[in-house]
Amino acid sequence: MKLILLGAPGAGKGTVAKMLTKIDGSVQISTGDILRGAVAAGTELGKKAECFMKAGDLVPDDLIMGIMEERLQEDDCKNGYLLDGFPRTIPQAEELKLLLARIGDELDFAVNIDVPRDVILDRLTTRRTCSDCGAIYNVKSNPPKVEGKCDKCGGPVVQRDDETEEAISNRLAVYNEKTAPLIGFYEKEGMLLTVTATSSDAVISAIQERLAS
Ligand code: ADP
Ligand code: ZN
Repeated sequence: MKLILLGAPGAGKGTVAKMLTKIDGSVQISTGDILRGAVAAGTELGKKAECFMKAGDLVPDDLIMGIMEERLQEDDCKNGYLLDGFPRTIPQAEELKLLLARIGDELDFAVNIDVPRDVILDRLTTRRTCSDCGAIYNVKSNPPKVEGKCDKCGGPVVQRDDETEEAISNRLAVYNEKTAPLIGFYEKEGMLLTVTATSSDAVISAIQERLAS
């Protein structure tokens, strides 16, 4: 399957993407993970992106399009992909459309994961992430077995730099202003599936139903 996952920070795009990869071998493509990897590795891209990310602001569109143009043409994309955190602005969506036409690729649809704001806020402030493998934990509902240590790889489980209260409220404002308009964009394209659900299982079922129809 080839899907775009839309939704506010904390809506569960990453969790849903990871579950979907197990169904049919599609790969998760998270621009946030790619950027965090570049920052950690200290590459040119990482140096350019770092200050935007820390503040919870978006990284410029041209940097993101450069990353995605290469990424979408890698071999593992042949079995399908789940775009998690991209596109994030109308210009990115317009350019993605051109890029897909150019490389002869086509998406199934875009999923809008719609979660109430109070749930989002609670999730983001209690979320913790493994800095080595990206596994996601929650201090209340899903803590690692040993505090601060990843169950999967033993890496350090920490609060992300952009998950302070100030950066979170900025990320939500940026989402409302720049990314929420994509819902209307994909609706007009006739390729939007909106799922109002707080359980990832319900989101997965709705996606599978639409794929089968
Ligand atoms: P979130 O939990 O907010 O969805 P992500 O891991 O997707 O977080 O992204 C973290 C940060 O990386 C964003 O706040 C932004 O600075 C940057 N980023 C990720 N994807 C994009 C994108 N498509 N366009 C611009 N900036 C991006
Ligand atoms: Zn880990």
